Amino acid sequence: MKITGYKLGMLRVPLVTAFKTALRTVDHIEDIVIIIETDTGHKGYGEAPATAVITGDTHGSILDAIRTFIMPRLIGMEITSLNEITQIIQGALVNNFSAKAAVEIAVYDLFAQFYGAPLYKILGGGQPRLSTDLTISVDYIDKMVADSIRACDAGYETLKIKVGKDIGVDIKRVKAIYAAVKDRALLRLDANQGWSPRQTVAALHELEEAGIELELIEQPVKGEDLKGMKYITERVRTPVMADESTFGPREVIELIQMQAADIINIKLMKTGGISNAIKIADIASIYGVECMIGCMLESSISVTAAAHLAVAKPNVITKADLDGPSLCQFNPVEGGATFDSSEITLSEESGLGIKSIENLTMLDD
Ligand code: MG
Repeated sequence: MKITGYKLGMLRVPLVTAFKTALRTVDHIEDIVIIIETDTGHKGYGEAPATAVITGDTHGSILDAIRTFIMPRLIGMEITSLNEITQIIQGALVNNFSAKAAVEIAVYDLFAQFYGAPLYKILGGGQPRLSTDLTISVDYIDKMVADSIRACDAGYETLKIKVGKDIGVDIKRVKAIYAAVKDRALLRLDANQGWSPRQTVAALHELEEAGIELELIEQPVKGEDLKGMKYITERVRTPVMADESTFGPREVIELIQMQAADIINIKLMKTGGISNAIKIADIASIYGVECMIGCMLESSISVTAAAHLAVAKPNVITKADLDGPSLCQFNPVEGGATFDSSEITLSEESGLGIKSIENLTMLDD
């Protein structure tokens, strides 16, 4: 099975409610889709969102990285040369992790199709089911409480509460949501780099003293502020998770050796795809550090790939934040994983199991 070409498209899907964090407000998923073609007629699917405020990747940069730097180097390669292909992808240019992720996802899809097995089996096997949380966007307190209750009614047992705006209001937000759903759901907080180290410690001490049990606090301070992350990790009881503080395997090693976080959030759009995500999971497992598998605003193409990876690494990837498809008004993908509120079930089809994609506007090359 040789790589012979590729097509690019733009996938646009409206969200159920606007996605609001300390950094941005978004009401649509708008992602680049790559379809890699082969001489056997098999197609591999990949996807990448533009998350300029986090990864620096824009639609324009993703398209140019794929068209000019990555794909020209892969045409003619045998899909069975997986390690060589991923090295070429990672070395084609620096950074541009989302573009690399989109191409790697499509390559792994084809690699597993070649061997006629679902991707998670090729990655080592596992139980093909996961349970994800749901994100509650930062908003007025009443709206966040109502959204949290609705999520519990829909069957979610873990909620990821977005905060990081105004720390005084953030504490009130968490207290109100906890009072409303504490018997029904576990709460994760994601401050999206919105607080300072001292503010975070003060806020968590106040919440801890009020008897509020949080599963974790995610990236309260700026990604580059590893000392701030360490300062917090040393002082609060609530486990601290690094998101924007870690992209690739090297940063994970640094972060773990500094003891700057308790948990690592792995996202394919930060790692540059599956090959580095595997390395991170293996590094974390050596150190006994747990990981979450997360996603950006992604549809079920790249989220299906992330779910396959998580299923194959259950000893270390113990938490899932793969709610991208659940935030969409509809699933544009036929095949792939099934998303039924909190339950994600992988298909037993070869590769990612994706058959077709609606709402895709092809871009001419
Ligand atoms: Mg986050």
